[in-house]
Amino acid sequence: MSRIAPRLVSVWVGGDALDGFQIEAPTSHIKVYLPAPGQHAPVLPVDTPDGPAWPEGDAPRPAVRTYTPRRFDAASRTLEVQFVLHGAGPASEWAEGVGVGDRLAVAGPGGRFAMDPAVESWWIAGDQSAIPAVGTLLEALPDSAAAEVHLEVTDADDEIELAAAAPAKTTVTWHHRRTPDAWGAELADAARRAAIADGGTVWVACEAAAMRGIRRYFVTERRLPASSLVTRGYWRLGEANHPDHDYGEDDLPGR
Ligand SMILES: Cc1cc2nc3c(=O)[nH]c(=O)nc-3n(C[C@H](O)[C@H](O)[C@H](O)COP(=O)(O)OP(=O)(O)OC[C@H]3O[C@@H](n4cnc5c(N)ncnc54)[C@H](O)[C@@H]3O)c2cc1C
Repeated sequence: MSRIAPRLVSVWVGGDALDGFQIEAPTSHIKVYLPAPGQHAPVLPVDTPDGPAWPEGDAPRPAVRTYTPRRFDAASRTLEVQFVLHGAGPASEWAEGVGVGDRLAVAGPGGRFAMDPAVESWWIAGDQSAIPAVGTLLEALPDSAAAEVHLEVTDADDEIELAAAAPAKTTVTWHHRRTPDAWGAELADAARRAAIADGGTVWVACEAAAMRGIRRYFVTERRLPASSLVTRGYWRLGEANHPDHDYGEDDLPGR
């Protein structure tokens, strides 16, 4: 584990089981199965003639959470996963205390997003949980693309280098959450100031209610076609283990 910023750590996962692992698309996700407190490895289902089943006994089952495979080095079979340390939550707490030799299980990757290399103009916004995904997206964009990136973090200490492997026409603007619970408010304001080019794509991932507000604004006030919007709720305030397929499309049915 190494600390990238006060509230963001990198965990490197290795092992023969990663043989053949591949990150097929930017912003894809994996499922991590995390050991319960006091365990060094998660309890996992075992194969039985009737299919996978949990082993007998009362060992606690793993917490399963959704994360971005940030990068994978096939030669060393090493997968980097970046965890936000947001406080109480099995994944955040595990990442804060993880040590060499601790084990987790990984499933995936999966995800619905396919980057269209023909898109020349990107407006990208995310909170700290989306920094790893934004990193994968910036590294995947064609050199010709222009990307305007807005990221919301707690304060200046949480700003990290992100544009090193991005297309030359990338700007990254860091926003500091204006009050501790104003999740996504800075991103919503940035959306109102955004100049979205014709044919451009908007990509947003952050707290689920904040994402819906931003999506609603782009659809109803800016009249952007749904096909130009990629929106993801990465977590929801007050809810554990938010689903990995919250696209916000339920918010304005029919649009
Ligand atoms: C496709 C996808 C990719 C993701 N990639 C990453 C990634 O690479 N790195 C990453 O850190 N997260 C990522 N997330 C978000 C991550 O899955 C959630 O933050 C998850 O809830 C964390 O699990 P936990 O066990 O720490 O907390 P949980 O047990 O799920 O939640 C406990 C409490 O913490 C709150 N909470 C959860 N996450 C946050 C947060 N980020 N900030 C503030 N409060 C929070 C919840 O509202 C809840 O009240 C991704 C989510 C999705 C859907």
